[in-house]
Amino acid sequence: MAGKYVLALDQGTTSSRSILFNHDGAIVTAASQEFPQVYPRPGWVEHDPLAIWETQIATAAAVLERASAGPEDIAAIGITNQRETTVVWDRATGQPVHNAIVWQCRRTTDTCERLKAAGLEDEFRKRTGLVVDAYFSGTKVKWILDHVAGARERAERGELCFGTIDSWLLYNLAGVHATDYANASRTLMFNIHERAWDPLLLEKLDVPAAMLPEARPSSGVFGVTKALGGEIPVAALIGDQQSALFGQAGFNANDCKNTYGTGCFLLMNTGAKPVVSESGLLTTIAWGIGDEVTYALEGSVFVAGAVVQWLRDELKIIDSAAESEAVAAQVPDANGVHLVPAFVGLGAPYWDMRARGTITGLTRGANRAHIVRAALESIAFQSADLVHTMEKDTAAHIPRLKVDGGACANNLLMQFQADLLGIPVVRGKTIETTALGAAFLAGLAVGFWSGLDELAAIWRLDRAFEPAWDPARREAALAGWADAVRRTKS
Ligand code: ADP
Repeated sequence: MAGKYVLALDQGTTSSRSILFNHDGAIVTAASQEFPQVYPRPGWVEHDPLAIWETQIATAAAVLERASAGPEDIAAIGITNQRETTVVWDRATGQPVHNAIVWQCRRTTDTCERLKAAGLEDEFRKRTGLVVDAYFSGTKVKWILDHVAGARERAERGELCFGTIDSWLLYNLAGVHATDYANASRTLMFNIHERAWDPLLLEKLDVPAAMLPEARPSSGVFGVTKALGGEIPVAALIGDQQSALFGQAGFNANDCKNTYGTGCFLLMNTGAKPVVSESGLLTTIAWGIGDEVTYALEGSVFVAGAVVQWLRDELKIIDSAAESEAVAAQVPDANGVHLVPAFVGLGAPYWDMRARGTITGLTRGANRAHIVRAALESIAFQSADLVHTMEKDTAAHIPRLKVDGGACANNLLMQFQADLLGIPVVRGKTIETTALGAAFLAGLAVGFWSGLDELAAIWRLDRAFEPAWDPARREAALAGWADAVRRTKS
């Protein structure tokens, strides 16, 4: 086994980060660089792909230097990335033909409406596990081909490459045009059952097959890079949320992780079988290792940590996100107050995009602490709605919830989450689970780690929050929330 470290490249929406992990899965050193967000019109979001590449490789070089490590010390590189963001570039020169269209960008909403009006939603859903939405890559590629002069003809001749950010970085690192199943499963063009690009969907989106990357298992040597000096294998690609599930050692069916950031991303491992949701959750490939593919159900909370930012920046009733915990702890409960932060509508399982936020249950006795507490509780209630939806869709019981993301530092929120769900909420020592997942998959590919058992043993507990409520109290709390949501619907 060559090398002491695995290097994870974590290419996110606002920054490019590189993290060096040792054999114990501990962070040796990390570096991060932000890059500009481009907003050409309201609702449109772009990134300069060259800025992404330059900041990513600069942070990688920085961590090697800080660790006094050379390329010979790096056993492998694993890449994890913001998902769905779409790049089209010239195969010969490597020059992008347009800025990257970012996952948040809404410019293709009309295209999605047309696909739905043509009755194609079911077809897309059956094949890709996704809903037809501007979020995913397919309509973004189409937009570039429709708007850059000559692009579609060039793509048909094989002169242009499409890729999500994993592919773009891999191409720059190693000159290879490939992606992994997890990233491919977010494009609206990939058949998650056959693990192949879907000819019918490509035809409906008018995207030539000749521009698509080769889709491979997430763990495996994709190519060799000399961009950091000597030769290093690039041995894993995986989208960020799937990577976090892997970094949480969520290897087995019914393993579940929730990331508490601006929004929440909840992923449940469903094993070798793709589960179709009855409630509008997404079915996605979690990862591929060798011949085996693991599937996941995915749900998201649109407004989670963002409600804490709202308390801080708009209501100005807390000074920092962290202060929310101390303020909420001044009261034993929310005193019947519910805050439903439907600022942009309600997602799964309600799907009411016209709903808008409410505060209910106010009395003369309601104070600042009750409102702050209700806001924190809303994060846990929305997450519980997703957990219960996943349990219904899979007819399985989720035995514990592993957590990460900025707001998982809030102990009051985590305890409330455990009480509400009636299962332990488990926080690991490594908060960099996204980067760790890519490192794990890359290390597995080159024999740096021996297998999943060794990785599971590396995962270290910080704190487990044990549920303290009896079932009657849980049910009463959930009924109170359901009532507040009912009042919030449009
Ligand atoms: P993202 O990756 O989405 O930017 P992070 O994982 O960095 O998010 O988490 C930041 C979010 O978590 C912010 O919305 C912030 O309000 C919230 N947050 C951070 N710390 C706390 C805390 N101690 N209690 C509650 N919310 C918090």
